[in-house]
Amino acid sequence: MQSYKSISSHVRVVSQQFRTRSHGLQATSTARSCSSPWFSTSHLSQKRHAHARGIEYLQNHDPDLTDSQRTVREAISKVCSHFDDQYWSTCEKDHRFPVEFQQAIAKDGWLGICMPSEYGGSDLGIAEAATMMQTIAESGGAYAACSSVHMNIFGLEPVRKFGTNDQRQRMLTPLIAGDERACFGVTEPNTGLDTLKLQSRAAKSSDGSYYTLSGSKIWTSTAQVAEKILILVRTTPLDQVKKRSQGLSLFYTDLNRDSVQVTEIPKMGRAAVDSNVLFFEDWKVPASDLIGSEGDGFKQIMVGMNAERVLIAAEALGWASLPSGALRSMPLTDKFSDAQLARTKQFNIRLRRAGCSWKQQD
Ligand SMILES: Cc1cc2nc3c(=O)[nH]c(=O)nc-3n(C[C@H](O)[C@H](O)[C@H](O)COP(=O)(O)OP(=O)(O)OC[C@H]3O[C@@H](n4cnc5c(N)ncnc54)[C@H](O)[C@@H]3O)c2cc1C
Repeated sequence: MQSYKSISSHVRVVSQQFRTRSHGLQATSTARSCSSPWFSTSHLSQKRHAHARGIEYLQNHDPDLTDSQRTVREAISKVCSHFDDQYWSTCEKDHRFPVEFQQAIAKDGWLGICMPSEYGGSDLGIAEAATMMQTIAESGGAYAACSSVHMNIFGLEPVRKFGTNDQRQRMLTPLIAGDERACFGVTEPNTGLDTLKLQSRAAKSSDGSYYTLSGSKIWTSTAQVAEKILILVRTTPLDQVKKRSQGLSLFYTDLNRDSVQVTEIPKMGRAAVDSNVLFFEDWKVPASDLIGSEGDGFKQIMVGMNAERVLIAAEALGWASLPSGALRSMPLTDKFSDAQLARTKQFNIRLRRAGCSWKQQD
């Protein structure tokens, strides 16, 4: 993770870079005559709250924001302002992955906000990533919008930290560019939160060239649309390790649908981003897709998961401020007194302050 000082030293360059990017985006999207209805000129002219949100609700005057965070918030607000309530409600209603939004975020390299620039990332830190996710949530996209990009931010942190140069190049570059999507397979039907007891296994072939995986995963988000999976499995049985955290291994590999059965779980809420059960048997995964050392997978996956907790908290703050934003967009009626609206506004401001005070993680 980058130190706070080194981020500060990048601020001027990064601010300039993001300003150029966001101006570029604005110009392109206004002129674009894309086949997607979300970019058509007629659609832009129909915008109501979402456009206002990007400019009005996603205010950028919070004194707790650093220059770098402020620039991130400004640029992300502009991207989000092209995706209004109608877009999100259609995605939810149709159970359709928000691919246009995900691609718009990828287009300027935001999926790699914390990834090294040599792979297309922006080399920023967790404070900026938290600001980005809070802004996305607050824009109106809420849980669906966040979940469509969430995995990209720190999901592949173990690859960045423990992968070989070749792995970093072939795994991070397409993910950051938005050319590949990844899902995250840790939770299992029989073990839930008790990760160290997970039952999926991987056995190494006699010539060492591949592993054979078998088992199941549950709640795997985006597996319907993902080409890749970061998956944690046991390579040494639990009764043969000194510590329960040993003997788990991490792979980043193709989600091979010939060997993996992916079944969507019907659920209430966040319908736009799918949740799935995975069953796999005799799934051959190249040994070159093992991340770091065999048996160290749990330690490695925690590198990304700890950072992910910060993102989830920032996203939750963004979701929490949505209802008050929605209230402000409603006409004043008997239902809401001025005092009630003022209280809601104050609450919104406090939440935003809290969300913007994330400190850099060591
Ligand atoms: C929408 C959604 C998306 C998700 N996406 C992903 C994903 O992409 N990839 C992935 O790997 N996982 C994903 N998850 C899984 C999520 O991380 C799990 O729900 C979580 O790990 C909890 O597992 P569980 O649901 O089996 O709960 P359980 O393990 O059954 O726990 C339920 C509750 O019981 C408590 N509990 C459990 N055991 C004990 C005990 N021994 N003593 C006391 N209390 C206990 C827990 O604290 C918890 O409050 C997703 C979940 C959801 C709902």
